[in-house]
Amino acid sequence: MKWIPKDNRYESMVYNRCGNSGLMLPAISMGLWHNFGDDTPHARKVDICTTAFDLGITHFDLANNYGPPPGSAELAFGRILREEFAGLRDELIISSKAGYNMWPGPYGEWGSRKYITASCDQSLKRMGLEYVDIFYSHRYDPNTPLEETMLALDQLVRSGKALYVGISSYNSQRTREAYDILKSLGTPFIIHQPSYSMLNRWVEEDGLLDTLEDLKVGSIVFSPLAQGMLTDKYLKSVPEDSRAKQGKSLQEGFLTESNIAHIKALNAIAAERNQTLAQMAIAWVLKKGRVTSALIGASKAQQVIDCVGAIKNIEFTDSELKKIDEYAKE
Ligand code: NDP
Repeated sequence: MKWIPKDNRYESMVYNRCGNSGLMLPAISMGLWHNFGDDTPHARKVDICTTAFDLGITHFDLANNYGPPPGSAELAFGRILREEFAGLRDELIISSKAGYNMWPGPYGEWGSRKYITASCDQSLKRMGLEYVDIFYSHRYDPNTPLEETMLALDQLVRSGKALYVGISSYNSQRTREAYDILKSLGTPFIIHQPSYSMLNRWVEEDGLLDTLEDLKVGSIVFSPLAQGMLTDKYLKSVPEDSRAKQGKSLQEGFLTESNIAHIKALNAIAAERNQTLAQMAIAWVLKKGRVTSALIGASKAQQVIDCVGAIKNIEFTDSELKKIDEYAKE
């Protein structure tokens, strides 16, 4: 049966302002890194995206290399845009990125103007779009002048291929440098995409979250569930259909006895809060309004439904936070 978007889709999601820009992002956004390649049936991808949209998730995050094979996630999302999301473009925030290896030779990765420009054109073609809402430099390139990478982003905006630009995984110092260059160019640099979770706090240690607050740049944090470790899925065993079992980007070896014991303790804290562990992990990154959006992944629509439940309670008492700190370590 043809999917029709729910009329009440904007009633329960929370939308946060992205830095000091005019753009509002949902507190939870949907990433298409895994489960959108040729190894996943298209019907499941449709189910995940339409479920997310019905829950008020307006933002879908991609990159040139998402798959497998690289590019296939953008192709699959392009099909969803044509078939399910037709007529909804103005309700969607779509992002893509360039930085990691995409095609052979010296122009297929990192941060040259040559690569960024060509890669954005390819992404637009794969998705069948005239523009993306946000285009990111996916990683800092130590061998290309930062001015060149930032100018490439600026040109994407000026040529109408992107509305806003962002950077991903740049440390605090590089972020300030990028900010200064983009400010001088007048480029709408509104967002940073770093990893962040109860188990991975580099953005606190590096000072990146403080820097973004200071610069009034928004943040969307990836892998808030530590790729599934901060959920109840590994408490009893390693399920066949899990990312760890399939040896994708999460190593089964990481699920040691001591890590599982910690995850069980975190699960108990979540239960006391009447939340699933996934919900508590998402609430934890959103607490105190420091982060604009939590960028999750999902292998089934039911996971999206569970995760969105997080926004019902993102407040923590000091004693809950202390208890979480005791167990949230690798
Ligand atoms: P998460 O930490 O949210 O992990 C997602 C995985 O957790 C799912 O695939 C699923 O695992 C499991 N999961 C999700 N919800 C539940 C639930 N309710 N109950 C049980 N298990 C659950 O994020 P990702 O690592 O997937 O990253 C999210 C997005 O961030 C990416 O899609 C991408 O857009 C972006 N990203 C950006 C990067 C960058 O360099 N800028 C790098 C990495 C990601 P399973 O598949 O095993 O079922």
